[in-house]
Amino acid sequence: MRWALIGASDIASTRLIPALRLAGQEIVGVFSSSISRASNYAATNDLTRHTDQLDELLSWPVDAVYVSTTNDLHAAQTLAAIRARKNILCEKPLATSVAMASDIVDQSRAHGVILATNHHIRASGVHEMIRRIVAEGRLGELYLARINHAVGLSERLRGWRLTGVSQGGGVVWDQVVHDVDILRADLQSDIVEVTALTSTFGMATAGIEDVSLCNFRFANGVVASTCQSYLVPFGRTSLEIHGSRGSLVATDVLRQDPIGDIVLTDSSGTHGIPVEDRENLYVKTIRRFELACQGIGQPYSTGEDGLEAVRAAAAVFVSAHEKSTVTF
Ligand code: NDP
Repeated sequence: MRWALIGASDIASTRLIPALRLAGQEIVGVFSSSISRASNYAATNDLTRHTDQLDELLSWPVDAVYVSTTNDLHAAQTLAAIRARKNILCEKPLATSVAMASDIVDQSRAHGVILATNHHIRASGVHEMIRRIVAEGRLGELYLARINHAVGLSERLRGWRLTGVSQGGGVVWDQVVHDVDILRADLQSDIVEVTALTSTFGMATAGIEDVSLCNFRFANGVVASTCQSYLVPFGRTSLEIHGSRGSLVATDVLRQDPIGDIVLTDSSGTHGIPVEDRENLYVKTIRRFELACQGIGQPYSTGEDGLEAVRAAAAVFVSAHEKSTVTF
């Protein structure tokens, strides 16, 4: 497919452009709000076209766009792309309000375009194995899950995430949405209740959370606890799922690379679970997206999934600020 990039971002240059090329896609050009940044970015990343006019990009002969601007811009740019009848892979969060995310999903359906949210973690071979273990009933009845997503924020990403109140900075829009999405995928259930605590320890400016602790109840009864942070340089991400027949602990599994291990403990003892699929998560995401555009299957994380992650993140803010429990 032919693609255009909305946003001269770090994630596009470090992950998506290489992945699109590995997946055999053609990248036509890039939009940036600054013409000099657009021009430099196009030159650095070997792109033919660049523009600082979104309408111009949307007039290019492309099949799909990848939106990776700051979080506050995703909704308006995605809506513009939908109206231009482009298929869209939008970075998380899909939007910074439930109303906007909902509108995007409705409009994508009305215009008949494929909308995916780049919750890339779903594409991990480790998580596909976790879903298989859960689906085969090897954990029995599920009771509890726990995610540790307390990590250190790379120096090069310490910009708007820490200072951009209006740009959707902070761990909730950054990490909680990923954690919600992977829990929904791996537990195969939707969130029905949220309680949360958030803190600002000072890496982020006032009004932006650099730590959060969120509890979710799922429709299938599972309760899950998740923690997120930018402040923990030696933190290792993990996911635990505990059931009546087994307990699963997966380590290094909320990452960008195809790494991570699963250890399963059940009546026969404690075993490492081999995972053969170590393919690039972003390449897999793009391949699945391309198939969806051809009418075959669905993206790993759809617009609807993106909406559910936004709904949960918005509830985290309400719960933390009002010291309340939010139910859906
Ligand atoms: P960046 O800060 O690299 O880019 C975001 C925007 O900032 C760009 O669109 C660009 O605006 C502007 N910008 C970039 N560099 C400069 C600069 N030197 N001076 C001024 N403005 C600049 O963000 P990330 O790549 O870290 O994140 C982008 C999106 O991707 C976010 O929504 C984030 O949540 C998501 N993301 C997803 C990941 C995943 O694995 N799924 C991982 C990392 C991020 P313009 O386009 O107008 O030039």
